[in-house]
Amino acid sequence: MLSKTVLIIGGNAAGLSAASQVKKIQPGWKVIVYEKGPYISYAGCGMPYFLQGIVSEFEGLLELTPETVVKDRKIELNLHHEVKSVNPVKKEITVKNGGTVETIAFDYLLLATGALPSRRGIEVKHPFSRRVFTLKSLDDMLEISALMEEQKPRRCGVIGGGYIAVEMLEAFQARGLETHLVHRRDQLANTFEPEISAMILEKMKEEGIALDLNRDVLEVAEAGEEIIVRTDKGDLIFDFVLIATGVDPNTAFLQDSGIELGIKGSVVVNKQLQTNFPYIYAAGDCAQTTSIITGQPAYVPLAPKANKEGFIAGANIAGGNEEFAGIGETAITKFADMGIARTGLTQEAAVKSSFDAVKYTFSTSNRPRYYPGGEELYCVCVINRDDGRFLGAQMAGPLDGVKRIDVFALLIQQKMTVGETFKLDLAYAPPFSPVYDPVILAARLGRKHI
Ligand SMILES: Cc1cc2nc3c(=O)[nH]c(=O)nc-3n(C[C@H](O)[C@H](O)[C@H](O)COP(=O)(O)OP(=O)(O)OC[C@H]3O[C@@H](n4cnc5c(N)ncnc54)[C@H](O)[C@@H]3O)c2cc1C
Repeated sequence: MLSKTVLIIGGNAAGLSAASQVKKIQPGWKVIVYEKGPYISYAGCGMPYFLQGIVSEFEGLLELTPETVVKDRKIELNLHHEVKSVNPVKKEITVKNGGTVETIAFDYLLLATGALPSRRGIEVKHPFSRRVFTLKSLDDMLEISALMEEQKPRRCGVIGGGYIAVEMLEAFQARGLETHLVHRRDQLANTFEPEISAMILEKMKEEGIALDLNRDVLEVAEAGEEIIVRTDKGDLIFDFVLIATGVDPNTAFLQDSGIELGIKGSVVVNKQLQTNFPYIYAAGDCAQTTSIITGQPAYVPLAPKANKEGFIAGANIAGGNEEFAGIGETAITKFADMGIARTGLTQEAAVKSSFDAVKYTFSTSNRPRYYPGGEELYCVCVINRDDGRFLGAQMAGPLDGVKRIDVFALLIQQKMTVGETFKLDLAYAPPFSPVYDPVILAARLGRKHI
């Protein structure tokens, strides 16, 4: 095969997975990565734990060094290079580096530009004060860290109700700050079942987080040394504020390119991760995907998706024909000593997708009652009444207990029913689980609902 030029926009999970894969399969091809920031291959998921102090080494968050990428993997790397536009017809991109703008031609292009924090319409006055943050990049993390070290703030507000808000509330609280959750609903984000949300909020209260719920944030403004969060129910005053109200795909620069955009502006791709221009691929947080449960388009920005899509896009660019199966929305996090995990659809989402979805909850222990160290594990299951198929599951409880969500993820992906799940031969011994593993118990209880 003749040598080809592959350009990759974005030097993190999706971009570098793809670049490495292309080089592995086609070592003779030219693979060039453009990254607008100063870092590549960083563990964004580790940032809350760095800010909490659990991860102490900044370098530990950097997975591949530029030297490894360039010298060992033979990938051309351009840091501080921002791609400004894509011309799919001419097969060219324009790249800005300082005051220089260049046009570069490609045979294949991968869009791996990730996502950007969304402020959900919250107006931030004085956005340069640097006491109002979002957390997306390592630079954001370093700025928050410096503020905590140097200015010794006392009070902070976290606006949002998703998993990054949960993780950052834990981090700030553990650092000894007076920490407030400010959220527009009386529950966390609607990706959590209300029962799980209530348990997390209760745990937050126990740990001393102030809950400012049911408040619509209208504006965040600076007044002297203070940050005022103006809400429909009055002002809240903090020393600094983190806005963690979700992310949007980072695709504004593609708006007029002719590349098809879907949910929230994410890039529409087929199973091979090709856009409407077959030589242009997209992977990771900038790309739309498909729900493996409903078959409908979905936008779910998570790290395993980004890494796997990068791998698959790279393999396909290099001549392969691999498919990305879609997403089951499996996710896990923690607050203090409570593990929190989810997969599949909530009952609300399942009903919206026209399933006759029935929900049931139960609580069990992660060990037999007689064995020391057992803790309560709370489960919410959603099944399809028609055929008994599992549609969703959520768990809250001990950290090792909630990782069982992976078994639910598997059986949901395999479209297994409660009857089939009950027949699974899962491992049992007292130090690990009760004799009816929570997954088997979920199946046994689920049989009563169909
Ligand atoms: C605080 C935090 C915690 C998280 N925790 C978890 C977790 O526990 N589990 C989980 O599954 N996911 C987690 N995530 C999400 C996960 O980090 C992302 O899904 C993943 O990083 C997406 O990888 P990506 O390569 O698609 O995009 P990104 O990681 O966003 O990388 C995109 C890269 O493209 C660069 N770029 C953007 N535009 C341009 C341009 N025009 N030109 C050149 N370069 C450009 C950016 O600078 C960036 O380096 C977390 C995210 C955050 C912020």
